[in-house]
Amino acid sequence: MRKVILFLFVAVTLVSAEIYSLMNFQPSSGAQTELFRSLAFEVVQIHEDGSVDFVANSLERRTILENGLSVTIKIADMQAYYQARNGTGRSMGGFYTWDEVSVWIDSLVAANPTITSVQSIGNTYQDRPQRVVKISVNNSFNDDDPAMANAWYDGLIHAREGAAMRNVRYWMMWLCSNYERNGYNGYQATWLLENREIWCLPVNNVDGWVYNESTSPGGGGMHRKNMNWTAGGDGIDLNRNWSVDWGGAGSSGDPGSQTYRGTGPLSEPESSNIDTFWQSHVPAQMHSTHTYSNALIYPWGWTSSPTTHAAAYSTQGEMMVQWATGEEHYTSYYFGPSAGNTRDHAYGVHGAMSWNHETGASFAGFWPSATEVVKLSRRNLRSYLVTACLAGCQYDPHEPGVP
Ligand SMILES: [Zn+2]
Repeated sequence: MRKVILFLFVAVTLVSAEIYSLMNFQPSSGAQTELFRSLAFEVVQIHEDGSVDFVANSLERRTILENGLSVTIKIADMQAYYQARNGTGRSMGGFYTWDEVSVWIDSLVAANPTITSVQSIGNTYQDRPQRVVKISVNNSFNDDDPAMANAWYDGLIHAREGAAMRNVRYWMMWLCSNYERNGYNGYQATWLLENREIWCLPVNNVDGWVYNESTSPGGGGMHRKNMNWTAGGDGIDLNRNWSVDWGGAGSSGDPGSQTYRGTGPLSEPESSNIDTFWQSHVPAQMHSTHTYSNALIYPWGWTSSPTTHAAAYSTQGEMMVQWATGEEHYTSYYFGPSAGNTRDHAYGVHGAMSWNHETGASFAGFWPSATEVVKLSRRNLRSYLVTACLAGCQYDPHEPGVP
């Protein structure tokens, strides 16, 4: 019966706009698990019973049927689900459109001219700027002081993860509003700005975010990848487009897959712009925020082998968990292989301690409620403080890991 429902669902969605479903896979054998992994789905959560939640589009629902995988449908149409929850009347469900974020960036920099600056580090596939805000007392954008360690923060590499941008935005506001203030917050923010160069890219995949605005202006849009559709699919997964083990397991060569890796390492401007920026502003800590599953994950993602800095990752991960409360940390291979991901590149090529922060629990999902996203932003602030504080300290390896 379950298969009949899935078959009907596949048949219906073949002829309409893309629909994303939240599925649960229950592995019945080691062979089934291996088969599931080989198909490079976008895994969002692994449960204690060993079952796996993942997101499937129309192509991937066909793949499930063709391979006879045992799945249940948790949310048939995630976009409709989030749209209903966010209600109507607020642009992007209160998550801010690209234009609104851009105006906000300008106002933040205008209000804090001595500790901020903003520049585009390059344009996206559709020629929109990737705007990075530098926050530091050394606020000249092109003057990178080698004595002040770089800490990098980005959100929305995946266009449907609005909470990621909200978390980074809150961090930026917290730093600016607490600088030179009294009290514990003031002391922390002032010390960080006097000793670190903090680089924030709140909207990484600008084109995908704008596309989600066009298809779902009230929020809840489920497009994940960038907007380079020239390969015949619907874009490239920017989190499989990096150089360490590019093309390996956990990424797909099918342009319709949500983990499609593109035509080569750093083929996409969104990732190559960042790589170029990191070459001249080497990050000591790289903190990339995603949604969801309340997990901090770190290299390696491409192999189950531990990094040479596994102990440092575990120690820092525990600090971030303790401070941010209620989260788990593990190497990203825990979710299965994910070749070509950002954290492996930032660590393996640039030597950064690299974190992929999956913010929020499953009930919050990709588009948390208005109250939940504020809670997450406050909570995750503490993990951002850890990465900023530890940048350049003893846990920073200073040299690339060996891929
Ligand atoms: Zn993501």
